Amino acid sequence: MFKNINTIALLVFPLVLKYVFLLCFIDWALFDIQDVLEDVCFVILMGLLIYSDLRTKQFFKDTLLMLYLLYLVIETTSYMAVSSNFSSSFMYLLLESNPDEIKEFSSAYVSLPIVLFILILVIFFFKIRKIHFKNHFKHRNVISVVGVVLTIFILKFSGLIESNAYHNMVRGTYGYIDLQNSIKFSNNLKKEDINITLKNEVLVVVLGESTARRHMQIYGYKRETTPKLNAIKNALYVYDNVISTDVFTLKSVPKIITSIDIETNNEFNIHIVELFNAAGYDTYWLSNQRPISYHDNAISKIASSSKWFKFYNHLKDKHALVLDEVLLPDYQKILKKAGKKVIFIRLIGTHFDYNKRYPKAYNRFALHDEGVSKEDVMNDEYDNAVLYNDYIVSELIRLLEVQNQKSALLYVSDHGENIYDDTDFFGRSEEVLTKSMFEIPFILWTSKYFEYPDDFIYKPNRKFMADHTFESIGHVFGVAHKTMNSQRSIFSSSFENRTRKVIDKIDFDTYFNTQDE
Ligand SMILES: [Zn+2]
Repeated sequence: MFKNINTIALLVFPLVLKYVFLLCFIDWALFDIQDVLEDVCFVILMGLLIYSDLRTKQFFKDTLLMLYLLYLVIETTSYMAVSSNFSSSFMYLLLESNPDEIKEFSSAYVSLPIVLFILILVIFFFKIRKIHFKNHFKHRNVISVVGVVLTIFILKFSGLIESNAYHNMVRGTYGYIDLQNSIKFSNNLKKEDINITLKNEVLVVVLGESTARRHMQIYGYKRETTPKLNAIKNALYVYDNVISTDVFTLKSVPKIITSIDIETNNEFNIHIVELFNAAGYDTYWLSNQRPISYHDNAISKIASSSKWFKFYNHLKDKHALVLDEVLLPDYQKILKKAGKKVIFIRLIGTHFDYNKRYPKAYNRFALHDEGVSKEDVMNDEYDNAVLYNDYIVSELIRLLEVQNQKSALLYVSDHGENIYDDTDFFGRSEEVLTKSMFEIPFILWTSKYFEYPDDFIYKPNRKFMADHTFESIGHVFGVAHKTMNSQRSIFSSSFENRTRKVIDKIDFDTYFNTQDE
């Protein structure tokens, strides 16, 4: 028995190290006792396997040790980087990012303690892989098998497994694939089911990316980040109480541009491209985001049903550097084409890595000397990106305006972004929600020839959630399917308030009013 003590201590060492690091580098209040219990179970589980005679080959031993150490690396670095355990929603972020973005993310989050922790565990691995973990119990293999099964049962039925990084990776991936597959669209809209009430000619829908309202001057931000939009403010309908449903692109965008909303998940989903196709409009989709991440996703499917579409951002080596102005020449060409049309513009916007989202000329806020905090640098770069985004959106409006048609442009961001606004991290997470992750710009521009619906009304502070953008567009532009309802339109006098449930379960208004104010 005592022979085992040393090797047991050796095996528990990385776990202890995890808590030493967390104790030193993160706020202990963030910690959850569930995680601790789950860690203990997991270590017992790994210990039982490592000690059993069931694995005799070095290869299996190495694999087990690596699984064990990798687990600690994932959970510990996740806590140190984003103050949260590795959750299944985290997996979304990884799945919807491409390798370059992941590289960018990790280089931004990496810190000396994280490097040190990983380094220690790597050295540890090479030190202990040759050590004999031998136990001297009778029936040791029976004990191992029974122990492993028992521990898995405990993890599963106590719910502790929810805090396990590996479990969350699998669950996150499964949920992601499931979500993408569950979105089905009717692919044969009947023209007689569509009601065209106005004679509008050109609609432009601009889908922004990661642009937080509170960093925009036009919404009262202290810095001059949107001078161009401010200059035409009187020609804009600027809505200041619109939120996204989610904090991840692949969850929020489909709800913006389809009939899918948080209340219904019916079989009969319509997406916006199909609606305008059936209504006889030419549809165009210009995207400065890659067509696919790891799996084909719902947004790409919708985009590809446009009559003409183009993705500017899939050159592997430099795609993260393609600025949004890349789509302006094609946009201009399309505007000059005859016929009624709808143009969808998908920007890379202010997506991380912020300093890759604007040309040098737009570096107005990150002109600091040495010794500025990481938080300030991040904020400055983000604000530069917002400034450039202001140029793009106003340019899209300007080019549309000179056509002198019955036209409108709607600008909405897919979700917001947290740049150390309410918490000590940047980015987005479903575990630590902040208001700024949901607060999005929602701005309508119309030409002087635009035909409004009879019940149009401008109430800038309407409590609106972006999953009814689809309904609002149909209403204001005068192209609606029979299943659409103007009570859901932000532009209608018959608009009805509802509970704004974000990430499928949280009442945004109650949650943040009680917690923040
Ligand atoms: Zn996004």
